[in-house]
Amino acid sequence: SHQNRQSAYKRERDDSGKNHCENKHSRPNHPQYQSGPTPGQNPLSSRGLSTRREQYEKDFPVYKQPVEVGCFSLDSERRFFNDNRQMRYYVEPDRSPNFDLRDGYKDRFIKRDDSVKEKLDHMLRWILANRSKLSSRGTAASSCALDVDFVTWRGHLTKLLTTPYETREGWLLAVTRFRGTLYISEVETEAARRDQENRTERHEEMMYWGYKFEQYTCADNVHSLPDPGGVVNTNEAFCTVVQTRLADHRLLFSGEVDCRDKDPNAPAPPACYVELKTSAEISTPKQRSNFHRFKLLKWWAQSFLPGVPRVVAGFRDHEGVVVTVDTFPISKISHLIKNEQNCWKPTVCMNFCCEFLSFVKHIATEDNPSVVYLLSWEPHRDVTFSIHRDSQYSFLPHWYVEEMTRSQDSH
Ligand code: GDP
Ligand code: MG
Repeated sequence: SHQNRQSAYKRERDDSGKNHCENKHSRPNHPQYQSGPTPGQNPLSSRGLSTRREQYEKDFPVYKQPVEVGCFSLDSERRFFNDNRQMRYYVEPDRSPNFDLRDGYKDRFIKRDDSVKEKLDHMLRWILANRSKLSSRGTAASSCALDVDFVTWRGHLTKLLTTPYETREGWLLAVTRFRGTLYISEVETEAARRDQENRTERHEEMMYWGYKFEQYTCADNVHSLPDPGGVVNTNEAFCTVVQTRLADHRLLFSGEVDCRDKDPNAPAPPACYVELKTSAEISTPKQRSNFHRFKLLKWWAQSFLPGVPRVVAGFRDHEGVVVTVDTFPISKISHLIKNEQNCWKPTVCMNFCCEFLSFVKHIATEDNPSVVYLLSWEPHRDVTFSIHRDSQYSFLPHWYVEEMTRSQDSH
Protein backbone atom coordinates (compact mmCIF):
# COMPACT_ATOMS: atom_id res chain seq x y z
CA SER A 1 0.00 0.00 0.00
CA HIS A 2 0.96 3.63 -0.27
CA GLN A 3 1.47 3.91 3.47
CA ASN A 4 3.87 0.98 3.50
CA ARG A 5 5.89 2.46 0.72
CA GLN A 6 6.17 5.76 2.51
CA SER A 7 7.75 4.36 5.61
CA ALA A 8 10.14 1.94 3.91
CA TYR A 9 13.66 2.70 2.86
CA LYS A 10 14.65 1.81 -0.65
CA ARG A 11 16.92 -1.19 -0.71
CA GLU A 12 20.08 -1.20 -2.77
CA ARG A 13 18.77 -3.71 -5.33
CA ASP A 14 15.74 -1.52 -6.01
CA ASP A 15 17.90 1.39 -7.05
CA SER A 16 17.77 0.68 -10.76
CA GLY A 17 16.34 4.08 -11.47
CA LYS A 18 13.03 2.74 -12.73
CA ASN A 19 9.95 3.94 -10.98
CA HIS A 20 8.43 1.01 -9.13
CA CYS A 21 5.28 2.96 -8.36
CA GLU A 22 2.41 2.58 -10.76
CA ASN A 23 1.15 6.05 -9.95
CA LYS A 24 -0.22 7.79 -13.01
CA HIS A 25 1.18 11.13 -11.87
CA SER A 26 4.71 10.34 -12.85
CA ARG A 27 7.41 12.63 -11.55
CA PRO A 28 9.99 14.14 -13.89
CA ASN A 29 13.55 13.16 -13.07
CA HIS A 30 14.61 16.77 -12.70
CA PRO A 31 12.71 19.82 -11.62
CA GLN A 32 12.11 22.29 -14.39
CA TYR A 33 14.09 25.42 -13.65
CA GLN A 34 12.45 28.51 -14.97
CA SER A 35 13.36 32.13 -14.86
CA GLY A 36 9.87 33.52 -14.61
CA PRO A 37 7.23 33.21 -11.92
CA THR A 38 5.16 30.04 -12.21
CA PRO A 39 2.15 30.42 -9.96
CA GLY A 40 0.76 27.20 -8.57
CA GLN A 41 2.68 24.96 -10.93
CA ASN A 42 6.37 24.57 -10.38
CA PRO A 43 8.11 24.66 -7.00
CA LEU A 44 10.78 26.93 -8.46
CA SER A 45 10.24 30.47 -9.61
CA SER A 46 12.31 33.62 -9.88
CA ARG A 47 11.31 34.39 -6.31
CA GLY A 48 12.66 31.15 -4.95
CA LEU A 49 11.49 27.72 -3.94
CA SER A 50 7.89 27.10 -2.95
CA THR A 51 7.21 25.40 0.39
CA ARG A 52 3.52 24.75 -0.34
CA ARG A 53 2.47 21.23 0.65
CA GLU A 54 0.37 20.59 -2.47
CA GLN A 55 3.48 20.93 -4.65
CA TYR A 56 5.12 17.99 -2.95
CA GLU A 57 2.29 15.44 -2.88
CA LYS A 58 4.01 13.05 -5.26
CA ASP A 59 5.44 9.56 -5.10
CA PHE A 60 7.85 8.97 -2.26
CA PRO A 61 11.36 9.69 -3.56
CA VAL A 62 14.15 7.13 -3.41
CA TYR A 63 15.71 7.25 0.04
CA LYS A 64 18.36 4.60 0.49
CA GLN A 65 18.70 2.74 3.76
CA PRO A 66 21.17 4.88 5.72
CA VAL A 67 24.52 3.20 6.41
CA GLU A 68 26.64 4.13 9.42
CA VAL A 69 30.13 4.94 8.17
CA GLY A 70 31.51 6.02 11.53
CA CYS A 71 30.81 7.78 14.76
CA PHE A 72 32.39 10.20 17.19
CA SER A 73 32.07 11.33 20.78
CA LEU A 74 32.15 14.66 22.55
CA ASP A 75 33.23 14.46 26.17
CA SER A 76 32.17 16.42 29.26
CA GLU A 77 34.32 19.32 28.06
CA ARG A 78 33.07 19.06 24.49
CA ARG A 79 36.33 17.58 23.24
CA PHE A 80 36.16 15.49 20.05
CA PHE A 81 37.07 11.79 19.92
CA ASN A 82 36.91 9.67 16.80
CA ASP A 83 35.30 6.75 18.65
CA ASN A 84 32.18 5.61 20.53
CA ARG A 85 33.32 6.28 24.11
CA GLN A 86 30.12 8.24 24.84
CA MET A 87 27.79 5.44 23.67
CA ARG A 88 25.10 4.61 26.19
CA TYR A 89 22.93 1.51 26.60
CA TYR A 90 19.15 1.49 26.87
CA VAL A 91 17.69 -0.03 30.03
CA GLU A 92 13.95 -0.53 29.65
CA PRO A 93 12.05 1.18 32.47
CA ASP A 94 8.76 0.10 34.04
CA ARG A 95 5.74 1.16 32.02
CA SER A 96 4.81 3.46 34.93
CA PRO A 97 8.17 4.41 36.39
CA ASN A 98 7.35 7.63 38.29
CA PHE A 99 10.70 9.17 37.35
CA ASP A 100 11.06 12.61 38.92
CA LEU A 101 12.54 14.68 36.11
CA ARG A 102 13.06 17.73 38.36
CA ASP A 103 15.57 15.89 40.52
CA GLY A 104 19.05 17.39 40.23
CA TYR A 105 17.95 20.71 38.72
CA LYS A 106 20.15 22.72 39.08
CA ASP A 107 22.64 21.27 41.55
CA ARG A 108 23.55 18.27 39.34
CA PHE A 109 23.27 19.95 35.93
CA ILE A 110 26.07 21.17 33.69
CA LYS A 111 24.67 22.88 30.63
CA ARG A 112 26.51 23.15 27.35
CA ASP A 113 27.38 26.76 26.47
CA ASP A 114 25.21 27.25 23.41
CA SER A 115 26.63 30.71 22.74
CA VAL A 116 29.60 28.77 21.31
CA LYS A 117 28.64 28.23 17.68
CA GLU A 118 30.28 24.97 16.64
CA LYS A 119 28.87 25.02 13.11
CA LEU A 120 30.02 21.90 11.22
CA ASP A 121 33.37 21.69 13.04
CA HIS A 122 32.94 18.30 14.74
CA MET A 123 31.75 16.72 11.50
CA LEU A 124 34.66 18.25 9.62
CA ARG A 125 37.06 16.86 12.20
CA TRP A 126 35.48 13.44 11.69
CA ILE A 127 35.81 13.80 7.90
CA LEU A 128 39.53 14.61 8.12
CA ALA A 129 40.10 11.62 10.41
CA ASN A 130 38.20 9.30 8.04
CA ARG A 131 38.98 10.61 4.57
CA SER A 132 40.02 7.24 3.23
CA LYS A 133 36.46 5.95 3.77
CA LEU A 134 35.01 8.76 1.69
CA SER A 135 37.37 9.75 -1.11
CA SER A 136 37.55 8.16 -4.50
CA ARG A 137 41.18 7.19 -4.61
CA GLY A 138 43.12 7.32 -7.81
CA THR A 139 40.38 8.67 -10.01
CA ALA A 140 42.05 11.76 -11.35
CA ALA A 141 38.91 12.63 -13.28
CA SER A 142 36.91 12.96 -10.10
CA SER A 143 36.63 16.60 -9.11
CA CYS A 144 34.59 15.62 -6.07
CA ALA A 145 37.05 15.05 -3.25
CA LEU A 146 34.57 13.37 -0.96
CA ASP A 147 32.22 11.43 -3.26
CA VAL A 148 29.23 13.04 -1.55
CA ASP A 149 27.08 15.94 -2.67
CA PHE A 150 26.09 17.25 0.76
CA VAL A 151 27.65 17.38 4.22
CA THR A 152 25.46 18.59 7.09
CA TRP A 153 23.95 17.83 10.51
CA ARG A 154 20.91 15.58 10.73
CA GLY A 155 19.17 18.37 12.67
CA HIS A 156 19.40 20.72 9.65
CA LEU A 157 17.79 18.08 7.43
CA THR A 158 15.05 17.58 10.03
CA LYS A 159 14.22 21.28 9.72
CA LEU A 160 13.98 20.90 5.95
CA LEU A 161 11.71 17.86 6.21
CA THR A 162 9.26 19.68 8.47
CA THR A 163 9.31 23.01 6.57
CA PRO A 164 6.09 22.47 4.56
CA TYR A 165 4.24 22.06 7.88
CA GLU A 166 6.04 24.69 9.95
CA THR A 167 4.00 27.82 10.70
CA ARG A 168 6.03 29.42 13.49
CA GLU A 169 9.80 29.30 13.05
CA GLY A 170 11.78 30.19 9.96
CA TRP A 171 15.40 29.24 9.30
CA LEU A 172 18.66 30.39 7.77
CA LEU A 173 20.99 27.89 6.16
CA ALA A 174 24.47 28.78 4.93
CA VAL A 175 25.77 26.76 1.98
CA THR A 176 29.33 26.62 0.66
CA ARG A 177 30.54 24.61 -2.32
CA PHE A 178 34.06 23.33 -1.74
CA ARG A 179 35.76 20.80 -4.01
CA GLY A 180 32.42 19.73 -5.45
CA THR A 181 30.71 19.08 -2.12
CA LEU A 182 28.00 21.33 -0.71
CA TYR A 183 28.30 22.01 3.01
CA ILE A 184 25.15 23.16 4.81
CA SER A 185 25.42 24.89 8.20
CA GLU A 186 22.69 26.65 10.13
CA VAL A 187 22.79 30.33 11.05
CA GLU A 188 20.77 31.41 14.08
CA THR A 189 17.84 33.66 13.14
CA GLU A 190 17.13 36.88 15.01
CA ALA A 191 13.82 35.42 16.18
CA ALA A 192 15.52 32.29 17.55
CA ARG A 193 18.04 34.43 19.42
CA ARG A 194 15.25 36.52 20.92
CA ASP A 195 13.30 33.40 21.95
CA GLN A 196 16.43 31.99 23.56
CA GLU A 197 17.02 35.19 25.54
CA ASN A 198 13.39 35.39 26.65
CA ARG A 199 13.03 31.81 27.85
CA THR A 200 11.16 31.53 31.14
CA GLU A 201 12.65 29.76 34.14
CA ARG A 202 9.94 27.10 33.69
CA HIS A 203 11.01 26.55 30.08
CA GLU A 204 14.69 26.37 31.08
CA GLU A 205 13.84 23.65 33.59
CA MET A 206 11.69 21.74 31.12
CA MET A 207 14.63 21.56 28.73
CA TYR A 208 16.51 19.76 31.51
CA TRP A 209 13.73 17.19 31.85
CA GLY A 210 14.55 15.57 28.52
CA TYR A 211 18.18 15.00 29.54
CA LYS A 212 17.12 13.75 32.97
CA PHE A 213 14.88 11.15 31.32
CA GLU A 214 17.93 9.95 29.35
CA GLN A 215 19.84 9.55 32.62
CA TYR A 216 17.03 7.40 34.09
CA THR A 217 17.00 5.09 31.06
CA CYS A 218 20.66 4.88 29.95
CA ALA A 219 23.64 3.02 31.36
CA ASP A 220 27.29 3.67 30.53
CA ASN A 221 28.07 0.01 29.94
CA VAL A 222 26.31 -3.12 28.71
CA HIS A 223 26.29 -4.58 32.22
CA SER A 224 25.73 -1.48 34.34
CA LEU A 225 22.54 0.27 35.38
CA PRO A 226 21.44 3.90 34.99
CA ASP A 227 22.69 6.27 37.70
CA PRO A 228 19.97 8.83 38.49
CA GLY A 229 22.20 10.24 41.23
CA GLY A 230 24.86 11.39 38.78
CA VAL A 231 25.40 14.73 37.07
CA VAL A 232 23.56 15.59 33.83
CA ASN A 233 26.17 17.14 31.53
CA THR A 234 24.83 18.20 28.13
CA ASN A 235 28.33 18.64 26.70
CA GLU A 236 28.54 14.88 26.35
CA ALA A 237 27.35 13.44 23.07
CA PHE A 238 27.61 10.34 20.92
CA CYS A 239 27.07 11.03 17.22
CA THR A 240 26.57 8.63 14.35
CA VAL A 241 27.79 9.52 10.85
CA VAL A 242 25.63 8.07 8.12
CA GLN A 243 25.73 7.97 4.36
CA THR A 244 22.64 7.67 2.21
CA ARG A 245 21.04 9.00 -0.96
CA LEU A 246 17.85 10.99 -1.52
CA ALA A 247 17.01 10.68 -5.25
CA ASP A 248 20.25 11.87 -6.91
CA HIS A 249 21.63 13.59 -3.81
CA ARG A 250 24.40 11.70 -2.02
CA LEU A 251 24.28 12.71 1.63
CA LEU A 252 26.74 12.49 4.50
CA PHE A 253 25.37 13.69 7.79
CA SER A 254 25.78 13.22 11.50
CA GLY A 255 23.26 13.15 14.30
CA GLU A 256 23.38 12.74 18.03
CA VAL A 257 22.18 9.31 19.19
CA ASP A 258 20.77 8.87 22.69
CA CYS A 259 21.55 5.19 23.22
CA ARG A 260 21.56 1.70 21.74
CA ASP A 261 19.96 -1.66 22.45
CA LYS A 262 22.35 -3.43 24.85
CA ASP A 263 21.57 -6.91 23.48
CA PRO A 264 24.77 -8.09 21.74
CA ASN A 265 22.51 -9.80 19.16
CA ALA A 266 20.78 -6.55 18.29
CA PRO A 267 21.07 -5.49 14.62
CA ALA A 268 24.05 -3.40 13.53
CA PRO A 269 23.88 0.41 13.83
CA PRO A 270 21.84 2.44 13.09
CA ALA A 271 19.12 -0.25 13.52
CA CYS A 272 20.03 -0.83 17.19
CA TYR A 273 19.76 2.84 18.13
CA VAL A 274 17.01 4.24 20.34
CA GLU A 275 15.82 7.86 20.42
CA LEU A 276 14.49 9.05 23.79
CA LYS A 277 11.84 11.73 24.16
CA THR A 278 9.65 13.23 26.82
CA SER A 279 6.22 14.70 26.19
CA ALA A 280 3.27 15.97 28.20
CA GLU A 281 0.85 13.18 29.09
CA ILE A 282 -2.19 12.91 26.82
CA SER A 283 -5.63 12.97 28.40
CA THR A 284 -7.96 14.62 25.86
CA PRO A 285 -8.74 13.95 22.16
CA LYS A 286 -7.44 17.44 21.36
CA GLN A 287 -4.12 16.67 23.05
CA ARG A 288 -3.88 13.37 21.18
CA SER A 289 -4.58 15.10 17.88
CA ASN A 290 -1.94 17.76 18.56
CA PHE A 291 0.55 15.09 19.53
CA HIS A 292 -0.04 13.27 16.23
CA ARG A 293 -0.02 16.40 14.10
CA PHE A 294 2.97 18.23 15.56
CA LYS A 295 5.12 16.10 17.83
CA LEU A 296 5.07 12.87 15.84
CA LEU A 297 6.10 14.83 12.72
CA LYS A 298 9.27 16.04 14.48
CA TRP A 299 9.97 12.64 15.98
CA TRP A 300 9.45 10.83 12.70
CA ALA A 301 11.61 13.25 10.66
CA GLN A 302 14.52 13.19 13.10
CA SER A 303 14.75 9.41 13.38
CA PHE A 304 13.72 8.41 9.85
CA LEU A 305 16.66 10.36 8.38
CA PRO A 306 19.47 8.31 10.04
CA GLY A 307 17.46 5.06 10.12
CA VAL A 308 16.89 4.97 13.87
CA PRO A 309 13.97 2.52 14.14
CA ARG A 310 12.29 3.50 17.41
CA VAL A 311 11.50 6.33 19.79
CA VAL A 312 10.93 5.59 23.47
CA ALA A 313 8.72 8.29 24.96
CA GLY A 314 8.25 9.20 28.59
CA PHE A 315 4.90 10.94 29.16
CA ARG A 316 5.14 13.30 32.13
CA ASP A 317 2.69 15.29 34.18
CA HIS A 318 2.92 19.02 34.91
CA GLU A 319 5.19 18.37 37.89
CA GLY A 320 7.72 16.60 35.71
CA VAL A 321 6.94 13.06 36.81
CA VAL A 322 7.02 10.40 34.08
CA VAL A 323 3.73 8.55 34.38
CA THR A 324 3.92 6.23 31.35
CA VAL A 325 6.56 5.04 28.91
CA ASP A 326 5.71 3.97 25.35
CA THR A 327 7.68 2.79 22.35
CA PHE A 328 6.94 4.23 18.90
CA PRO A 329 8.40 2.24 16.01
CA ILE A 330 9.22 4.82 13.30
CA SER A 331 7.79 2.53 10.61
CA LYS A 332 4.38 2.63 12.34
CA ILE A 333 4.09 6.39 12.82
CA SER A 334 2.59 6.95 9.36
CA HIS A 335 -0.22 4.48 10.25
CA LEU A 336 -0.84 6.14 13.61
CA ILE A 337 -1.51 9.51 11.98
CA LYS A 338 -3.76 8.17 9.20
CA ASN A 339 -6.94 9.06 11.06
CA GLU A 340 -6.01 12.70 11.62
CA GLN A 341 -7.68 15.28 9.39
CA ASN A 342 -5.26 17.42 7.44
CA CYS A 343 -2.25 15.62 8.81
CA TRP A 344 1.36 15.73 7.63
CA LYS A 345 2.61 13.29 5.00
CA PRO A 346 6.09 11.74 4.90
CA THR A 347 6.19 12.05 1.10
CA VAL A 348 5.68 15.84 1.27
CA CYS A 349 8.56 16.13 3.73
CA MET A 350 10.94 14.05 1.63
CA ASN A 351 9.97 15.61 -1.71
CA PHE A 352 10.43 19.11 -0.32
CA CYS A 353 13.86 18.23 1.04
CA CYS A 354 14.80 16.70 -2.30
CA GLU A 355 13.72 19.78 -4.27
CA PHE A 356 15.51 22.02 -1.80
CA LEU A 357 18.76 20.11 -2.37
CA SER A 358 18.27 20.38 -6.16
CA PHE A 359 17.70 24.11 -5.73
CA VAL A 360 20.93 24.40 -3.72
CA LYS A 361 22.91 22.50 -6.37
CA HIS A 362 21.48 24.81 -9.01
CA ILE A 363 22.26 28.12 -7.28
CA ALA A 364 25.48 27.37 -5.36
CA THR A 365 27.73 27.15 -8.38
CA GLU A 366 30.95 28.90 -7.34
CA ASP A 367 33.36 26.42 -5.75
CA ASN A 368 34.98 28.62 -3.12
CA PRO A 369 35.31 28.04 0.63
CA SER A 370 34.81 31.71 1.44
CA VAL A 371 31.58 32.12 -0.54
CA VAL A 372 28.30 31.50 1.28
CA TYR A 373 24.91 31.13 -0.32
CA LEU A 374 22.51 32.08 2.45
CA LEU A 375 19.12 30.42 2.09
CA SER A 376 16.38 31.97 4.14
CA TRP A 377 12.85 30.98 4.86
CA GLU A 378 9.99 32.44 6.85
CA PRO A 379 6.66 30.65 7.31
CA HIS A 380 4.15 31.27 4.48
CA ARG A 381 6.96 32.41 2.17
CA ASP A 382 9.16 30.90 -0.54
CA VAL A 383 12.78 30.00 0.16
CA THR A 384 15.01 32.83 -1.07
CA PHE A 385 18.78 33.32 -1.14
CA SER A 386 21.58 35.85 -1.10
CA ILE A 387 25.32 35.51 -1.83
CA HIS A 388 28.09 36.55 0.58
CA ARG A 389 31.84 36.71 -0.07
CA ASP A 390 34.38 36.70 2.82
CA SER A 391 31.58 37.58 5.22
CA GLN A 392 30.57 36.77 8.78
CA TYR A 393 28.70 33.80 7.28
CA SER A 394 31.79 31.92 6.03
CA PHE A 395 31.95 28.74 8.11
CA LEU A 396 34.52 26.34 6.66
CA PRO A 397 37.53 26.69 9.00
CA HIS A 398 41.02 27.29 7.63
CA TRP A 399 42.31 24.07 9.18
CA TYR A 400 39.75 22.13 7.16
CA VAL A 401 40.26 23.93 3.86
CA GLU A 402 44.04 23.68 4.16
CA GLU A 403 44.08 20.01 5.10
CA MET A 404 41.65 19.12 2.30
CA THR A 405 43.64 21.09 -0.25
CA ARG A 406 47.03 19.86 0.96
CA SER A 407 46.13 16.19 0.85
CA GLN A 408 44.61 16.49 -2.60
CA ASP A 409 47.70 14.99 -4.27
CA SER A 410 48.21 12.20 -1.76
CA HIS A 411 44.72 10.86 -2.42
P1 GDP B 1 19.17 17.38 16.55
O1 GDP B 1 18.68 16.37 15.57
O2 GDP B 1 18.45 18.71 16.45
O3 GDP B 1 19.24 16.85 17.95
O4 GDP B 1 20.65 17.76 16.16
P2 GDP B 1 21.82 16.77 15.67
O5 GDP B 1 21.62 15.40 16.17
O6 GDP B 1 22.00 16.99 14.21
O7 GDP B 1 23.04 17.39 16.49
C1 GDP B 1 24.10 17.95 15.86
C2 GDP B 1 25.03 18.58 16.85
O8 GDP B 1 24.42 19.72 17.42
C3 GDP B 1 25.46 17.70 18.00
O9 GDP B 1 26.81 17.98 18.33
C4 GDP B 1 24.56 18.13 19.13
O10 GDP B 1 25.19 17.95 20.38
C5 GDP B 1 24.37 19.60 18.81
N1 GDP B 1 23.05 20.08 19.20
C6 GDP B 1 21.92 19.38 19.38
N2 GDP B 1 20.91 20.18 19.73
C7 GDP B 1 21.42 21.43 19.79
C8 GDP B 1 20.86 22.71 20.10
O11 GDP B 1 19.69 22.84 20.44
N3 GDP B 1 21.70 23.78 20.01
C9 GDP B 1 23.00 23.65 19.64
N4 GDP B 1 23.77 24.73 19.56
N5 GDP B 1 23.56 22.47 19.34
C10 GDP B 1 22.78 21.37 19.43
MG1 MG C 1 16.40 12.53 22.50
